[in-house]
Amino acid sequence: MKVNIWNEKAETMSRDELHHVQSLRFKDMVWRIYHNVPFYRQALDEKGITPSDIKDIDDLKYMPFTTKTDLRDNYPKGLFAVPDKEVVRIHASSGTTGKPTVVGYTKNDLELWSEVGARSVMSAGVTQDSIVQNSLGYGLFTGGLGLHYAAEKVGAQVIPMGGGNTQKQIMMMKDFNSTVLIATPSYALHLADVMEEMGMGPDDIPLKTGVLGAEPWSEEMKIAIESKTGMQAINSYGMSELIGPCVAMECVHQTGMHIWEDHFVPQIIDPVTGELLEEGQTGELVVTAMTKECLPMLRYRTKDIASITTEKCSCGRTMARIKRLSGRTDDMMIIRGVNVFPSQIESIIFEVQGVEPYYQLVLSTANGMTALEVKVEVSPEYFNDDIRRLTSLREEIGNRIKTFIGISAKITLCEPKSLPRSEGKAVRVIDQRTIK
Ligand code: ADP
Ligand code: ZN
Repeated sequence: MKVNIWNEKAETMSRDELHHVQSLRFKDMVWRIYHNVPFYRQALDEKGITPSDIKDIDDLKYMPFTTKTDLRDNYPKGLFAVPDKEVVRIHASSGTTGKPTVVGYTKNDLELWSEVGARSVMSAGVTQDSIVQNSLGYGLFTGGLGLHYAAEKVGAQVIPMGGGNTQKQIMMMKDFNSTVLIATPSYALHLADVMEEMGMGPDDIPLKTGVLGAEPWSEEMKIAIESKTGMQAINSYGMSELIGPCVAMECVHQTGMHIWEDHFVPQIIDPVTGELLEEGQTGELVVTAMTKECLPMLRYRTKDIASITTEKCSCGRTMARIKRLSGRTDDMMIIRGVNVFPSQIESIIFEVQGVEPYYQLVLSTANGMTALEVKVEVSPEYFNDDIRRLTSLREEIGNRIKTFIGISAKITLCEPKSLPRSEGKAVRVIDQRTIK
């Protein structure tokens, strides 16, 4: 398969060269944060580290972590490393719990964002011949604008749709001949189902590539989206604290998401002890954003559970790859001692005949313990079926969850189309526990 590479020099540099580039940039970063951000100066002083102590990137492991709480405690701009007049853009996370997390960009940061953006979308298969329908939300959320400038940078034609208005999205897609859809996987699935209802199959849709991310999604969900739309569903990763989308992106070979390591240095740690893990081991992803001017991030704890490989990829890029994420440490449910991620339940739901992949997980307290209810929609052709088939369907789901995950869950079958559809990030877990 022929692949296009946006910045061949950077994306295919040798690991030795990369080590050299990272070391220079890391030393520069430590100098900047030590002198410009009181929070970091204090954190480094506490560890007895001064910028001149840093030899190379291998010293990263001695550095303190930065967490979301640190950003919140320094709300709104306490971790900014430049004077306010140099800031040209602000974004913020959704902030469903408490204050939002505020991030800022200088002119150079925006340049950097579109550079890693161009690498990312080209890695996904976008070229200047692509017509890109961007269905991520525009506004304070980084998703929409981040990928907008990324696709423009490679010279693609961009349609800034934003989320929602599904029927219109489909009309525009056909009329404008959109070849690329940028969306969350849950919204892509919803779009695909509405297309099906409108009598369209994969052959009636011009889409070739889906750039999908911003939330965890299972391999089974990817397969379902691909078969309903005929497009290749590429995994896209990022977060506002690190820059926004385009921190990492799969290439068309799809063996993990290439992370742009000359700017974002990944590490995997044990989420409990903070200890550094070996390549290939699964743990919490920690990323250092070395080159941003406004908001450099030292060892940011993403809370995402991942593993990393630096094995050669057939696309020619030498940048490490992050495997599909199983979930976030704070989405992990502990049910009678067993750790469960929503994506594990999702995988099971996709494999059962007779239900649709729309689900919700409700946590409650029963006898002082956490109980899980799985609400899932029955397929329309099953819904009016006799009660015995519905009962056996419920049992089948319950048994699979018991066998593959090892927990007992209450299964509730819901009417077709009764659970909420997502236009952005899907809400999978409803927590009604009285004891947490
Ligand atoms: P917020 O949701 O707080 O507004 P972000 O949009 O920056 O903030 O969300 C970033 C988070 O989204 C990541 O830490 C990760 O948990 C999740 N995420 C983003 N892309 C992916 C992906 N491809 N797979 C799994 N999770 C993802
Ligand atoms: Zn590759």
